[in-house]
Amino acid sequence: MTGTNVDGFDHDSHLRRAFDLAREAAARGDEPFGSVLVRDDTVVMTDSNRVVTEDDIRRHPELHLAYRACRELDADERAETVMYTSTEPCPMCAGGMARAGFDRVVYSVGSDEIAEFTDNEPSVRSAEILAGVTDVVGPVLNDEGRQIHEEFDW
Ligand SMILES: [Zn+2]
Repeated sequence: MTGTNVDGFDHDSHLRRAFDLAREAAARGDEPFGSVLVRDDTVVMTDSNRVVTEDDIRRHPELHLAYRACRELDADERAETVMYTSTEPCPMCAGGMARAGFDRVVYSVGSDEIAEFTDNEPSVRSAEILAGVTDVVGPVLNDEGRQIHEEFDW
């Protein structure tokens, strides 16, 4: 399908799928982050944080989905793809996503907010890294997204 209108996607539903994945990660012993990739308003890939259980600093869901998308989708397909992610991508992930060239990323909780939850310094915003490549939209469903981090033992 060409000329996909990503504005018509069911944003809330896809973002809540990312929330479910974030909660699954926390239940498994990882940090609570989840992401999905959507084409034609259909979820085509999902992932959640596995840094602890895989002992792999690269296993943020956004970077892993960018990696998988570059292997499994061509550039035109990636350009019609939207990532929904429970939290704004960190600079490592945004760097990988810049290579993937998604149409848009929609997040719930901003990296500035996560810095407060985790007591870290604020990082470079994803919109800065993805400028001219991928539109960054958020925060969306912010109260629901923040609830995940309020429940997590940071
Ligand atoms: Zn990341």
